[in-house]
Amino acid sequence: MEIASARGIDSLHGEAGDPLTGLAGREVLDRAGRWTAGGCGSVILIDLDQFKAINDTYGHATGDRVLREVARRLRAVAAPHLPVRLSGDEFAVVVLSSSRAVCQRVASAIHEAIRAPVELGDGTLYLDAGIGIALAYGELTLWELVSRAGASIRPLKRTGRLPRIVVYDDHQHGQILDTLALSLDLRGALARDELVVHYQPLVDMASRRAEGFEALVRWRHPIRGVVAPLRFVPLAEDTGLMPELGEWVLTQACRQARAWEPAAGEAPYVSVNISIRQLEDPEFQRRFERALERSGLEPSRLRVEVAESVLAAGLSVVKPRLAGVRDMGVGVLLDDFGTGYSSLGYLRELPLDGVKLDRLFTRDLTFSPEAWSLARSIVTMISQLGLELIAEGLETAAHLAQLRSLGCQIGQGFYFARPERPERLRFHRLGRSSS
Ligand code: C2E
Ligand code: MG
Ligand code: MG
Repeated sequence: MEIASARGIDSLHGEAGDPLTGLAGREVLDRAGRWTAGGCGSVILIDLDQFKAINDTYGHATGDRVLREVARRLRAVAAPHLPVRLSGDEFAVVVLSSSRAVCQRVASAIHEAIRAPVELGDGTLYLDAGIGIALAYGELTLWELVSRAGASIRPLKRTGRLPRIVVYDDHQHGQILDTLALSLDLRGALARDELVVHYQPLVDMASRRAEGFEALVRWRHPIRGVVAPLRFVPLAEDTGLMPELGEWVLTQACRQARAWEPAAGEAPYVSVNISIRQLEDPEFQRRFERALERSGLEPSRLRVEVAESVLAAGLSVVKPRLAGVRDMGVGVLLDDFGTGYSSLGYLRELPLDGVKLDRLFTRDLTFSPEAWSLARSIVTMISQLGLELIAEGLETAAHLAQLRSLGCQIGQGFYFARPERPERLRFHRLGRSSS
């Protein structure tokens, strides 16, 4: 259904609100709201991936060029609809229709335009974006639609995985309410002692011995049962609870690693996941110092795992924070390598001790020759950089054989052991039937 006020919004097209890109600026949404009152403009929200990383890697001048190029492409494909620059790397297009099909068509054209290579003179850049669509609905203002579209892309932004275009719908509305309830519960979870840490071994594939254990948090919710970290860690991130929750996990893990210290011999290390809000927290390093002090653990027996997605905080934040804990003697691993937007440059740029190869690599090894040759070059490159390599997601004896023939020494996965409560852990003969 085309909207009656299309002519009204037309008059906003000429406005150049944003000096960098020449697109209309965010103020236009207030004014356009008046034209679309009665509920007819839909909103497509476009959030570029890894834009901070582009700024960090190539500099702000290039960042600006990229934004101008994106704006140019938006203008070209979005016509006759209204493209707007909302902030930094966030754009929107007000679509003069409440039809799902029309909006999806415009969104696909936008996605394709953004993914076309950007020539920089001395190289080529490949962009991508998460795209959310909120259809015109009742009396909702354009700003309310922007926030609906934002809510629908948030999960995409977290995983960086397909699909990249989503339409906000009422089912999602139910999910959002459910999520809200869960995040309210989460506030009291620590105090009510509902969180627990499980441990999964990182295994030397030759000796079948646990070199270390990864700490993985779980929430034993009184009604919902066990809630997985992928469900509640993002909520803790959004609600500001993550630094505190993270320190709790860290302290538990350090104490646990102390408890593994045998009378003699080398005790396994413990590896703790760190998310973006923890890294951004000004207390980041202090929390490590406290956890180590409280537990009395040697820093060299602690490792942190950061996923590539933390690079969204910008290299200028991530690098000194990681260097800070590394200077204390704590090891640093890059987690889920090869899933997101791995710039190989990060491997040199970040202060790292090792890399965890994402389980999708392990999974694909058995049936994809491309995955095999890619994995082989990654293994070679990582060892040439002097980094340790840990393969994730080993589920079968075939995975084990393949990874070993690639020259990979340490592995983690259900084949050896699932994450378990501390009292159920095994340290030796992993992946072999217990004798
Ligand atoms: P991750 O750090 O990549 O952790 C590995 C995940 O893969 C774990 O899921 C583990 O159970 C699962 N996994 C291990 N082996 C296999 C396998 O062979 N096959 C398959 N399909 N999966 C395997 P989990 O425990 O659900 O954790 C998911 C993610 O949540 C973690 O991914 C990590 O990013 C995050 N996370 C977990 N605990 C914490 C924490 O304490 N703090 C923070 N910030 N994030 C955490
Ligand atoms: Mg991890
Ligand atoms: Mg991982």
